[in-house]
Amino acid sequence: MADPDCLFCKIVSGEINADVVFENDDVVAFRDINPQASTHVLVIPRRHIATINELESEDSQTVGSLFLAARDIAAQEGIAEAGFRTVMNCNAAAGQTVFHLHLHVLGGRSLEWPPG
Ligand code: 5GP
Ligand code: ZN
Repeated sequence: MADPDCLFCKIVSGEINADVVFENDDVVAFRDINPQASTHVLVIPRRHIATINELESEDSQTVGSLFLAARDIAAQEGIAEAGFRTVMNCNAAAGQTVFHLHLHVLGGRSLEWPPG
């Protein structure tokens, strides 16, 4: 299930260190190494799924868990009431660089729309 060449699988296994802020049976969340806002957390499934394009219907609970974790992290970080953004990039044109599904949770500053 884990991809031996995948950076985020190595974070899940503990082979690579990360600043983990939340975890449960389905997901792990850690601070982005190159934060784009004062809060920038990545929420990932423990199980390797490369992109949204590879999602199967049986992954619906996992996807739900990513968003429930984002809710809890936003509350924990104190950004829930002011507002925050969740982003999941899919493939090159959207800027995906790590091919293990991840939900960005960004907050702590006002965020512009539309995104670049
Ligand atoms: P993407 O561009 O694929 O949507 O997002 C990948 C994110 O992973 C980027 O924001 C990047 O800064 C972050 N990232 C890449 N390598 C590492 C790492 O080794 N540790 C952590 N914590 N974040 C990483
Ligand atoms: Zn992976």
